Amino acid sequence: AKRNGRNDYHFYTAAMEANAQKEFDLENALRFALMRSELFLEFQPRVDTSSRKIIATEALMRWRRPDGEVCLPDVFIPIAETSGLILGMGNWVLKEACRACKAWQHGPLKGVSVSVNISQVQFVRDNFLSFVMESLRETGLPPHLLELELTESMLMEPSESIQQRIAGLSALGVKLSIDDFGTGFSSLAYLRRFAIDTLKIDRSFVMHMTDDPEDASVIHAIIALAISLGKRVVAEGVETVQQATQLAALGCHEMQGHWLGRPGDVGQLAQLARHGTKS
Ligand code: C2E
Ligand code: CA
Ligand code: CA
Ligand code: CA
Repeated sequence: AKRNGRNDYHFYTAAMEANAQKEFDLENALRFALMRSELFLEFQPRVDTSSRKIIATEALMRWRRPDGEVCLPDVFIPIAETSGLILGMGNWVLKEACRACKAWQHGPLKGVSVSVNISQVQFVRDNFLSFVMESLRETGLPPHLLELELTESMLMEPSESIQQRIAGLSALGVKLSIDDFGTGFSSLAYLRRFAIDTLKIDRSFVMHMTDDPEDASVIHAIIALAISLGKRVVAEGVETVQQATQLAALGCHEMQGHWLGRPGDVGQLAQLARHGTKS
């Protein structure tokens, strides 16, 4: 049937305007999030595949709105990035994660590291390396307990100063990982050139690995690549015992996902460390 194009068009622009207004409101609210202490961190365990012990955690940013609703990063990170607010927020996450990790070195989470997501906007800033150093110094966290999660696109054709930054971070003793590995560019040259410690296999491959032989092949290849380059490999988004069993058989070093533990506060993390994750 023929539809009224003009009305569709009006409807479309109205929807787009409503959307733009929503983003504008969100950005304005986000401006106050940091100073009003509305941001907090949750930590998700990363578990050693054979011992099933927690050896690392990933810090994930949360935003508690004044009405009590908790907003997840997929909603607010893109806005934080385009508005530049990510700089202040990202610095807060980095220092807060270092502080938390330092504090849990005295309890059941001793030796457990923390990994922090770094946005491209943050990473290319001149003062990034010095802020990492400041965070370590102020909190007293040993550098090897901090890991920075970068994305493949940050390592594509990096400028001279970015190359020096990566070398500087690795000289500090901080660990570097590639997040969402397998979803980015196909050139793998940067894996040889930079001191990358860990590859994190994107959840989208893990999701279908037990019923899609092609996804299983990709996972197999990434694990083999990591092992032959002497890097650690982590599977993200592990939700079932079948996935965990298959990943263990392939020699994947670590697993992260709902089956092993959802993101939570430090208390929940310590609980998991004491009583164990799935075994
Ligand atoms: P990511 O780095 O890939 O983080 C993993 C995401 O997968 C988290 O979502 C986590 O809650 C979710 N997840 C973990 N296990 C499972 C599972 O078994 N099943 C499913 N369905 N999901 C699982 P979250 O916390 O909503 O974060 C989304 C993204 O936001 C992150 O993806 C990361 O890219 C970004 N992000 C989070 N915190 C920060 C931050 O502090 N700074 C920056 N720049 N980005 C952040
Ligand atoms: Ca991540
Ligand atoms: Ca990821
Ligand atoms: Ca992801």
